[in-house]
Amino acid sequence: MSEYRRVKGTRDLLPPETAVWAAVEATARRVFALYGYGEVRTPVLEHTELFVRSVGESSDIVGKEMYTFDDRKGRSVTLRPENTASVARAFLEAGMQAGPLPAKLFYIGPQFRYERPQKGRYRQFHQIGAELLGDASPQADAELLLMLDRFLRELGFRELEVLLNTVGDAESRRAYGEALRTFLAPHREQLGPDSQRRLETNPLRILDTKDPAERELLAGAPALADHLTDAARAHFATVRALLDRFGVKYRVSERLVRGLDYYTDTVFEIVSKDLGAQDAVCGGGRYDELVADLGGPRIPGIGFAIGEDRLIDVLPASFRAHATARPPVLVVPVGGLAVDEAVALGEELRTAGVPSEVETAGRALRKALERASKLGVRWAALVGQSELERAVVQLKDLAKGEQHEVPRAALPMYLESRVEAEAAEKE
Ligand code: AMP
Repeated sequence: MSEYRRVKGTRDLLPPETAVWAAVEATARRVFALYGYGEVRTPVLEHTELFVRSVGESSDIVGKEMYTFDDRKGRSVTLRPENTASVARAFLEAGMQAGPLPAKLFYIGPQFRYERPQKGRYRQFHQIGAELLGDASPQADAELLLMLDRFLRELGFRELEVLLNTVGDAESRRAYGEALRTFLAPHREQLGPDSQRRLETNPLRILDTKDPAERELLAGAPALADHLTDAARAHFATVRALLDRFGVKYRVSERLVRGLDYYTDTVFEIVSKDLGAQDAVCGGGRYDELVADLGGPRIPGIGFAIGEDRLIDVLPASFRAHATARPPVLVVPVGGLAVDEAVALGEELRTAGVPSEVETAGRALRKALERASKLGVRWAALVGQSELERAVVQLKDLAKGEQHEVPRAALPMYLESRVEAEAAEKE
């Protein structure tokens, strides 16, 4: 074994797993395009200040998880820990605020957080996300959630739970922050250092605590829902009504505030009971002040980020099987036939659109068939001298053990009809 190992918390993705990733990403691209989203690719490296300003000092990310280092000229740069801030920066830098708005952008790519690695938690992980900039309407929130729901259904998910909440507009949050501060002040000593700090910087974030003692204390805290302005209440009601109308199932979770500082109004998370401790597959919400915080005009936004690693961990088997399907045909030269002739048949099949592999390594028939079964190849096309002369192949169905002689020219059509017949049988 080599003395070089991958960096802790990172992963190598290899076939057939990469085929699953590619299929998930292709589905995202197709579904997002249905809603008018275009892809954005931002650099992995950003100035550190971008994340401090947007994700916020009170967040775990900025507080302790960023891969931050000085470049050779002593400027502090950070490997992006999330993509929303970069998208907002790119949006402003390209002058997209001039319109046409809203801008609809999606991204797919690696993110970096220095967290303690465990199942479902990596230091380099991958997100698929979308951002809608320039539309403050509750219908925009609902449409984004409909798109997310459609994407997950196309992947075959039926069991994911959508948790939904509102953290209110700026005024609601100010009022609630005060109420929470007043409630918690006499209990300050019972709070851990993180929450004590948040009491000053962003009391709402304390609701996010995982500490059992703090959770108990918070059970008696004032409710965010009681401090919403009429506008914030109406916004949330409209989002919910639309989700109800289109049958998107969700559960309102009043303690859901999300770990980043920039959220306003609608926030959501999608969790899977198949995931264990790290059960969040997707997080998102509205961020009406983010663009202004970054020095731009007051342009509202909403978005989500799906953790692709976790999503793929709990991907329905049917989607996975479809994505990892092997080429259906292995061409095997038999009886000492020149391997070149097998290569020629492989090329003929590929030209006709049939994915094929050729046994070029010269294995004996039995070994070649064993390998084909292991790989999950469905058919072996055996060609010997006699088959070559008569322009036929012996087609062996490795799943059923049957063998038929099929004219070489008819092979693509024959395979296609077999696949269709079997698909019809399944339905
Ligand atoms: P966040 O930006 O923290 O809201 O994260 C959005 C989604 O990214 C989460 O719901 C997870 O699915 C995923 N995610 C966040 N951090 C990690 C990590 N360290 N490893 C794997 N997935 C992660």
